[in-house]
This record gives sequence, structure tokens and C-alpha cells, in this order.
Amino acid sequence: MLLVCSSRCGGSLFRALFAEVDVDAGGAYLDHQVLQANYMCLGCGSPALDLGAVPVEIQAEREADLPETLVEILCPVCESLVEVGANRECPDCGAYLAEVDA
Ligand SMILES: [Zn+2]
Ligand SMILES: [Zn+2]
Repeated sequence: MLLVCSSRCGGSLFRALFAEVDVDAGGAYLDHQVLQANYMCLGCGSPALDLGAVPVEIQAEREADLPETLVEILCPVCESLVEVGANRECPDCGAYLAEVDA
């Protein structure tokens, strides 16, 4: 998790919202359950964004989109060794690698 203030106020303290806290008879903290991931910046009160969750979602989308077979090829344009799938497109520079099958 990497929380940032949506107003970019620079605050580094956040409060979890919508969390249920379990306490014992004396009020001591036992456990908590986050009902909904929702955080607020303590500096200015703006909603906080979880940057840490974004790359995971992007990664999951990429994995879902991966073609079944990848061909390793040296891209003639950017000269990096890349893996290309059915789209025959260099992931580094976007060049169309028509010569993959040659
Ligand atoms: Zn803030
Ligand atoms: Zn390339």
C-alpha cells in the first residue's frame, strides 16, 4: 500500500475510514476489519489514493492480455532483446516486427 493525498498537500498521515475495531471489555484494541478500503488525509481532509494498488491491477490486466506464445527477438529498431506475441509489436519502442517469422 502506498497512500498519497489526492490534493497533494504533502501530508503523510492518513486515517482509515469504514473500519470496524474490535475491543475487549476494557476498550483495548484487539483487531480490526476494513469494510471498505478508504483512507483520508489527516493533513487536509482530502481522500487518499492508494498508489500501491495501481501497479498490481495493471499487472493483472497485462497478464490477462498475454498471448499464449511469445517469441524472443532482437528488435532491429531499438536493439533490445524483447518478447513479442501475436501482435508482433516491440514492447520497448512499439515498432512492428514483421520479420519475426523470416
Ligand atoms: Zn492532504
Ligand atoms: Zn524495439
